[in-house]
Amino acid sequence: MTAVFGHSLVAQVPLLDVGRANGPLREGILAAMERVFDSGRFLYGPDVTQLEQSLARRCGARHAIACASGSDALLLALMALGIEPGDEVIVPSFTFFATASAVSRLGAKIVFADIDPVTYNMDPGQLSMLITPRTKAVIPVHLYGQCADMAALNEIANRHKLSVVEDAAQSIGAAWLDRPAGNWGDVTCISFYPTKNLGGCGDGGMVVTSDESLEKRLRLFSAHGMQPRYFHKVVGINSRLDSLQAAALNVKLTMLDQWTADRQENAARYHELFHEAGLEKTLQLPVARSGATHVWNQYTIRVPEGRRDALRNYLAQNGVGSEIYYPHPLHLQECFADLGYRRGSLPNTERASAEVLSLPIFPGLTADEQYTVVQRIFGFYAQRQSIAA
Ligand SMILES: *Cc1c(COP(=O)(O)O)cnc(C)c1O
Repeated sequence: MTAVFGHSLVAQVPLLDVGRANGPLREGILAAMERVFDSGRFLYGPDVTQLEQSLARRCGARHAIACASGSDALLLALMALGIEPGDEVIVPSFTFFATASAVSRLGAKIVFADIDPVTYNMDPGQLSMLITPRTKAVIPVHLYGQCADMAALNEIANRHKLSVVEDAAQSIGAAWLDRPAGNWGDVTCISFYPTKNLGGCGDGGMVVTSDESLEKRLRLFSAHGMQPRYFHKVVGINSRLDSLQAAALNVKLTMLDQWTADRQENAARYHELFHEAGLEKTLQLPVARSGATHVWNQYTIRVPEGRRDALRNYLAQNGVGSEIYYPHPLHLQECFADLGYRRGSLPNTERASAEVLSLPIFPGLTADEQYTVVQRIFGFYAQRQSIAA
């Protein structure tokens, strides 16, 4: 064990340890699930309603509709907005697959926008360039826990009468200019995938809106378009949040503010540690824009000069977990080849895919673990210099 500035190195640092946040809630979560089990009511019911109301309040919206995943939330949002073949929907390419697949599932055309290289979020300048008479909607993604520039994006969308769907899968609790994610768009999509800031014990999702008629359509589409029973108004899907999941999530929600504060504290500590190690110019550290309340689902550095994969391997060999979100941009995926994008189509996205690396930031991560991560990265660059010298 080496100790510098009061920190000690540790042998292993996992990218994510869900158990550290869940552990102290074990009794509470199991008791809540037991209540649902004993009630025999596994779908709908009070736990789901409670979670919907809590999330609507947190997002500054009037309604929230629970569904089976964040991916379904995106699909339902576009269905409720009436997106259909012939329509164009503008989405970033630097995001998880589900943001774009929802568009193509409905037969509409995906139009990929490039990103701001600092925040990795959709570049508003790109949005205005890509709008055509067929454009119906735009899906800004709040990547890594930081909102896209919603003031600028909304202004452009409103001018062109586009619907705005916020993909807040990674950003529950984030805000832009003090307005929460969920308060900007027509519809906002949230995911409870276990790695998200509010993660369930399995899959889950939520759609948030303040529009009364959209709320009705979202509920209709999520329940086979059936109303009343066995009469189908539209062709919907079956997408519900299990009561067991909702029960667990209601317990976990009591800790969300604390966990968000932990993530923010961890981000600030990385910032200090990287500066102490003199690495702040070698790497590009993540930037929380002024106006953003960043909730740090990921702490993502940029590793220049083609060294990203070598650094990632070095970290793995030295017991430090890391991950690349996302290594292959969506516009270059095989399934979207017919859209005609090429390498070079979206330069900021492609550069980010080659350079980003996400480091452990989860609640419960210790200062010694963070110190270890930074020291291992320091070791990687020191080794390179000694070889060069
Ligand atoms: C996780 C995620 C989704 C999908 O959520 P699931 O619950 O896993 O279906 C969609 N968009 C983004 C940006 C995500 O990070």
